[in-house]
Amino acid sequence: MALVELSAGTKSFLSRSHGILIGKDWVNADGGEPINVVNPADGQAISAIGESSKANVDMAVAAARDAFENGPWSTMKPGERSGIMHKIAALMEENAEEIAQLETLDNGKPIKFARGEVFASASAIRYYAGWADKINGSTHNVNMPGDFHVYTLKEPVGVVALIVPWNYPLVMAAMKLGPALAAGCTCVLKPAEDTSLTALRMGEIMLEAGLPEGVVNIVTGLGRTTGAALASHDGVNKIAFTGSTVTGKAIAQIAAADLKKVSLELGGKSPNIIMDDANLEAAIPASAMGIFFNSGQTCTAPSRMYVHEKIADQVIEGVAAVGRGMTIAPGLDEDSDLGPLVSQKQFDRVSGYIEAGREEGGTVIGGDRHGEDGYFLEPTIIKQTNNDMKVVKEEIFGPVLVVQTFENADEAMRLANDSQYGLAAAIWTENLGQAHQMAKQVKSGIVGLNCAMGADWDVPLGGYKQSGIGRENGRDGLELYLQTKSVFAAI
Ligand code: NAD
Repeated sequence: MALVELSAGTKSFLSRSHGILIGKDWVNADGGEPINVVNPADGQAISAIGESSKANVDMAVAAARDAFENGPWSTMKPGERSGIMHKIAALMEENAEEIAQLETLDNGKPIKFARGEVFASASAIRYYAGWADKINGSTHNVNMPGDFHVYTLKEPVGVVALIVPWNYPLVMAAMKLGPALAAGCTCVLKPAEDTSLTALRMGEIMLEAGLPEGVVNIVTGLGRTTGAALASHDGVNKIAFTGSTVTGKAIAQIAAADLKKVSLELGGKSPNIIMDDANLEAAIPASAMGIFFNSGQTCTAPSRMYVHEKIADQVIEGVAAVGRGMTIAPGLDEDSDLGPLVSQKQFDRVSGYIEAGREEGGTVIGGDRHGEDGYFLEPTIIKQTNNDMKVVKEEIFGPVLVVQTFENADEAMRLANDSQYGLAAAIWTENLGQAHQMAKQVKSGIVGLNCAMGADWDVPLGGYKQSGIGRENGRDGLELYLQTKSVFAAI
């Protein structure tokens, strides 16, 4: 096992003490003891981040408010905003290896995937840089008596709180920063306490790119303290949240107190329906990668498989074989396909679900800890399940697939839609008509037909049911950060 050598930039970043970003200054958080940053591949502390107090959050929101009301960002020519955003993306790419290494050390994910995520994050900023000068309202021919010139203006919503989870830390931050900045908003970013390093590095890069002071502020700390203080702050106009459904509901309640705008990208338990005419050469590896990629810590992972009874044994064995063939190793190993789970807490949570699956009568394939150090878990399949079992109803967020069989398409669709979640779905069949019929019937925000998952910055992403409110990406994602003003001019 040869681990990637840490770059000079990575070493330098880890050796620095990390403050929080208020305006253009890095200041010490004063909310309590620093929080250790733990490498999930070996459980060792590699750095520490600050726990921001309520007063620190006040400072961050005040800096964002000042930048919004008095700074140049919201009134700057859109082409200039776009230019700074392109510079941010270029600097992310220039520092890609360092950022990828930090992400791998912090989150555990294989370095080959972390590298891809840095470039994907830079491309999110670039994509929205392209929108900055394409924001426009509309004109209206009205039926009112008299002569009127009626038009709408699209204005930035104001100060936005961006609260993100730990599974794709940089990607999640970039997909919120991109539209917020393009719209002319100013931001307070709160990364997850388990994975704050790349957000802090991003803060340095944004300042280096010439982002005016106060446009992006970054507070680190726990969700229940720092996150809650930010979400409930009366200086915040909008909350953009990605995380668990439980926390999303708490955020929605907090936002209701002063009717903040809120968008929520929440959990999923996405069905993967495999019909008996499916192309299994494509379906088996894609289904396996869909659930095992990123150690199953993907909101859109196809984690509930419904497979036609005629092909079930072949599919289950095929997915298990893909799992067995994956190299489980520290993320810094170039050969690693499967890194550790993000934390001891997540390892215990996922292991608890596997145990619950056994106790409820499921048959478990895999399910064991891998190695002695770190939080590695084998790719796992639980078969002989039903929709009443905890492991089928709840989001596990680990490399754990639950499988059931069905006899016909109606039964498959009924089982697939019987869930509180509705984020994504995959459907495998060679029958084109049936594929599109099923795409219409399934109650989820994203559907993959003969693919496990698709994602693109131009395509809306979001959930039906308890998987969220609003759509990120594309024009829909930009609209979350804009508000419409209607102007009636009597002429
Ligand atoms: P989480 O809800 O525990 O935390 C998410 C963020 O919210 C973190 O920054 C956390 O510090 C903060 N937070 C926690 N409690 C808070 C509170 N009371 N007030 C304000 N902020 C608070 O989620 P997680 O465990 O970090 O992430 C995993 C979850 O995220 C999974 O459920 C996954 O499905 C979901 N997710 C969804 C999407 C999507 O696009 N739908 C994408 C990625 C992850």
